[in-house]
Amino acid sequence: METNQLILRIPGPTPIPPSVQRAMQQPMIGHRDPETAELLASVQPGLQTIFGTVQHVSVVAGSGTSGLEAAVVNIVAPGEKVIVCVTGAFGERFVSICKSYQIETIVLEEQWGKAVDLNKLEVTLSEHPDCAAVFVTYCETSTSVLNPIAKISKLVHEKSDALVIVDGVSCIGGAELKMDEWQLDVVVTGSQKAFMLPGGLMFVASSEIARQKMKGNPRPRFYLDLLKYEKATREFSTPFTPATSLLYGLQEVIRLVEQESMEGVVNRHLQLRDMTRAALVSMNLELLAEDDFASPTVTAFSVPGIEGKLIRKQLTQRFGIRIAGGQGHQKETVLRIGHMGYCSTADILLVISALEVVLRDLGHAFPAGHGTVAAQNTLIGGHVHV
Ligand SMILES: *Cc1c(COP(=O)(O)O)cnc(C)c1O
Repeated sequence: METNQLILRIPGPTPIPPSVQRAMQQPMIGHRDPETAELLASVQPGLQTIFGTVQHVSVVAGSGTSGLEAAVVNIVAPGEKVIVCVTGAFGERFVSICKSYQIETIVLEEQWGKAVDLNKLEVTLSEHPDCAAVFVTYCETSTSVLNPIAKISKLVHEKSDALVIVDGVSCIGGAELKMDEWQLDVVVTGSQKAFMLPGGLMFVASSEIARQKMKGNPRPRFYLDLLKYEKATREFSTPFTPATSLLYGLQEVIRLVEQESMEGVVNRHLQLRDMTRAALVSMNLELLAEDDFASPTVTAFSVPGIEGKLIRKQLTQRFGIRIAGGQGHQKETVLRIGHMGYCSTADILLVISALEVVLRDLGHAFPAGHGTVAAQNTLIGGHVHV
């Protein structure tokens, strides 16, 4: 199978719309020339809409993890303590980053597949009222849990002076986000997930309070000094050379989002989630996340009795479709279908139908066609299930 025929249904990197691909082919421009300032200015309102903020959204050349590290080094001063909510592999990454900087880290851990427990968080906050920040993953990509960050943020602000730091890498651009209304202090995402771009860009926005905290924080940082980016972004510039080709792609992504409307984008992702989940349940497969915390961008599930590796191999060999395995201790037992960014309802019908063929051949017991029919049923009448 040629790589240009592969159908990527993994939770990032994701397929890129043809018009975005074309936009990235443009000739180079000087990074201090007015064209770059125009390009940066043109993407700002769209980014603010996607983030739900009036703050500036800085665009940094780096992968999503650079955003996680930037949040840690800019916010947490030496000697301060933090709480990290861990619901899977990406929560663990926040812990690793904090520990690399020898930051005292209180880990509030949940079983993989569960969301942050608000009662436990309340107890942890009362035990550590002096913590400087609470780190939380919006969509925990490893388990497909969407953490209730609006509620988490409300609780943190009610019970403490801690800042709320959100890793939104695998869902921002596909899931609802109201950074200002939800009082989130630092929000980070990357380009290769719901943003429909190649990897290489990190997007970050900070609240006024977060910027005050950064100003008073003596912890050394240079490339990832978010105040440098904030200042440059206000002037439609970047402190260092930007990834210009990706910015052209971003400009086209924003045009596509505006054309569909952010509400339309969010509703489409909910529909993709509902189709996928209904189909998998009808195929006697086990969903990892509960309905109330199911991510609109990725769905994790397990197939009792059949090795996940075998299923993925057949999907690739026979249909050119790539889905993902699990992460960490769930590597062998969990499968994940990414449905974020450039993904339509037809794409879900395709992957479900192919998955049915593979599962039937591998001897998994379920009524033939039920997955596809269940996915179709969520579409009948053109009804959007929210
Ligand atoms: C993919 C992902 C990251 C890491 O992004 P990189 O671009 O690989 O550094 C961080 N957090 C979450 C939730 C992710 O899904």
